[in-house]
Amino acid sequence: MSLPPPARVGDPLESVDTPALVIDLEVLDRNIAAMQDIADARGVALRPHAKSHKSADIARRQMACGAVGICCQKISEAELMATGGVDDILVTNQIVGARKIGRLSRLARHVRLGVCVDDTDNLAEIAAAARHSGAELDIYVEVEVGMGRCGVAPEKAGALCRAAAAEEGVRFAGLQAYNGRAQHIRDHRERGAAIARAGEAVRVVLADLEQAGLGGVRVTGAGTGSFEFEAGSGLWHELQAGSYIFMDADYARNLGPEGTPETTFGHSLFVLAGVLSTAPSGRVVVDAGLKALAVDSGLPLVAGPEGAAYLGASDEHGVVDPGGAALRPGDHVRLIPGHCDPTVNLHDWIVGARDGFVTDIWPVTARGAVF
Ligand code: PLP
Ligand code: MN
Repeated sequence: MSLPPPARVGDPLESVDTPALVIDLEVLDRNIAAMQDIADARGVALRPHAKSHKSADIARRQMACGAVGICCQKISEAELMATGGVDDILVTNQIVGARKIGRLSRLARHVRLGVCVDDTDNLAEIAAAARHSGAELDIYVEVEVGMGRCGVAPEKAGALCRAAAAEEGVRFAGLQAYNGRAQHIRDHRERGAAIARAGEAVRVVLADLEQAGLGGVRVTGAGTGSFEFEAGSGLWHELQAGSYIFMDADYARNLGPEGTPETTFGHSLFVLAGVLSTAPSGRVVVDAGLKALAVDSGLPLVAGPEGAAYLGASDEHGVVDPGGAALRPGDHVRLIPGHCDPTVNLHDWIVGARDGFVTDIWPVTARGAVF
């Protein structure tokens, strides 16, 4: 049994059932266009990360605006995006094990597909599967550029690149260089310095490749907190930012060059919570807790009513200080999630709204697609 969406097209927002994931489509479209304009002006490609929205509808919207394709994090996410009509996907992650590699090579028959590697055995296994399926895969060697996650050390990357270039069945396409840790450094100058260090690592590998006759490959990476630095470096060819379309409460704490919050992108993603109870303490209890909101990057901010604050989450409940608003059971509290990506993954449906009315209902295409 699949559950019905919390609203229908044409409904006023006040009648949307809660908790619901609501997107302000005007702000979403503005964010999509703003990032595309920046990429175009800098002469770099935009390949937004679909891990943020997990929605084929939004992915197609980004591509219609000029994105060259999308990024996915898991093979299941890529499969579902391909089913939803996306034809150019980079899996910005390692795909390990015969089952998943088999799926990867089969998917490459249907869409342009790339994948990241940081291990020679894994590379050989992927190349063998690609030869077997007869569909060429793009291979990006992931370089560790300061995040402390996947990737090979810059001094070792050249050898893996040469191995990728020598494998039949795959095409050595370039380098994955993503520093996720830099995204959330609040200070603009420090954030830029972290990406400059990542750039030094990239430079080491590119020099090595040039010597090996493998120059001219693509460098891909960057996120919402740092894209301006990668775009302006002359080293990266492609930006992978994801969260910019939504702007969660955490990203809103990043500071621009003037030391004030960044305003290039607006908040487009909200969780609409409903008041369940007016507690004796004067606080109200809403129906959106840990199962409707990710709080790993902090509690949600309240977008309305003004002056209210979200104080704490338990599994199914949230406690809200109404801040003078006379809230009654059934009233809505509009929340800006602390962290957009894992919040979206908690919902089946996206309610798209414009001017106070529901205009679109989209499934969260790759909800739960984490394998
Ligand atoms: N690229 C990679 C490899 C990522 O892991 C992520 C997010 O974690 C992104 C791009 C997008 O970053 P953001 O959502 O911060 O823009
Ligand atoms: Mn995130």
